[in-house]
Amino acid sequence: MGGGIIGASIAWRLAQRSARVTVFDARTLGGEASWAAAGMLAPGGEIESDEGWRGAAIESARTYGEFVRELESESGGKIDYRQCGALELARAGDETNALEAKAGRQAAAGIGSEPVPLARAAEIAPLVSLEGFAAARFYPGDGQVNPRDIMGALRVALAARGVAIRENEPKRRARPMNGHVDLDGQAFDGAVIAAGAWSGEIDAGVPMTASFPVRGHLTGYWLEPGLLGPLLRHRQTYLLQRSSGFLIAGTSEERVGYRRETDPETVAAIASRAAALLPALRGRAAGEVWTGFRPAVAGYEPRLGRINATAPVWFAYGHYRNGILMAPPAARDIAADISASLGIG
Ligand SMILES: Cc1cc2nc3c(=O)[nH]c(=O)nc-3n(C[C@H](O)[C@H](O)[C@H](O)COP(=O)(O)OP(=O)(O)OC[C@H]3O[C@@H](n4cnc5c(N)ncnc54)[C@H](O)[C@@H]3O)c2cc1C
Repeated sequence: MGGGIIGASIAWRLAQRSARVTVFDARTLGGEASWAAAGMLAPGGEIESDEGWRGAAIESARTYGEFVRELESESGGKIDYRQCGALELARAGDETNALEAKAGRQAAAGIGSEPVPLARAAEIAPLVSLEGFAAARFYPGDGQVNPRDIMGALRVALAARGVAIRENEPKRRARPMNGHVDLDGQAFDGAVIAAGAWSGEIDAGVPMTASFPVRGHLTGYWLEPGLLGPLLRHRQTYLLQRSSGFLIAGTSEERVGYRRETDPETVAAIASRAAALLPALRGRAAGEVWTGFRPAVAGYEPRLGRINATAPVWFAYGHYRNGILMAPPAARDIAADISASLGIG
């Protein structure tokens, strides 16, 4: 249940083990957070320890290229993926101290970065305005991928392996019943709740961790390719450029429920922060503006597992800001557990 990057990747891994799989999506495959995401693969910006899921996320950033190559080869499609590194900037005083302290914690967790003099930062990202900044760090392990390419490739790979993709079919109930699971009246050997922000609404007959949406805005600009090599970060602002030239600036974090509309003030604030960092954006209107719903749970720890030791119902949700990064290990682990339990492959 749920055909975002998490559900579709699990379905792909199960189909590779010769399971017969159906993906049900309330709307369209890859049409929600996995369509909206910027696609940064960035432990350097998101993670400060290697505890729990974070260790898998750090490892996923390191090995993401393998996931991409395998998906490209199964789908025949091209996926825009680059381990482009990230440049993070700080103003003098508290910001610089915080960046250095963060880098120290990250080094202990295996996330590498190096301080770079501003003159070097100017070589790494020549079009970025460094005015007012006192310090910079480069994170060589951070990267980016176009999540829409991933979802397009997953659709092809799923179809090629005989997975049924059933769109506009929301599921309300996944109730374990005599060794099977009842999905709104249809029996299956097992089920996975991977419905992103909506996951907590699905009735599995046991209390599920509540999930909720955190809306994020992004703005996109059509520019010449190659203007910005690495990801660029300053506090809550980030910029990245796809190989096509499309440049994305973000972001916001808003608890406004499932309101899809864009807010002109939020868009203007992101555009102004982005233009301060990249003067090429000054006076340029965004070509595209969109929102998406990050799937969150209290504590912001992804929920990955099984509802109990015997019922054939698994869950995989709550990946919040890092679901694109986390999809490969989440899919590997859930598919392996299902396969072992149901005797697949
Ligand atoms: C603005 C923004 C920027 C982001 N940037 C990044 C980033 O740079 N890097 C990163 O790693 N992550 C990023 N994320 C987070 C990432 O997008 C998510 O963590 C990830 O896409 C979650 O995938 P998912 O499959 O769990 O959810 P979704 O992609 O939301 O998929 C859930 C699917 O379930 C379906 N569904 C809902 N209810 C039901 C139901 N009852 N029955 C069946 N189907 C149902 C929905 O239609 C949807 O297709 C960003 C998110 C946003 C919003």
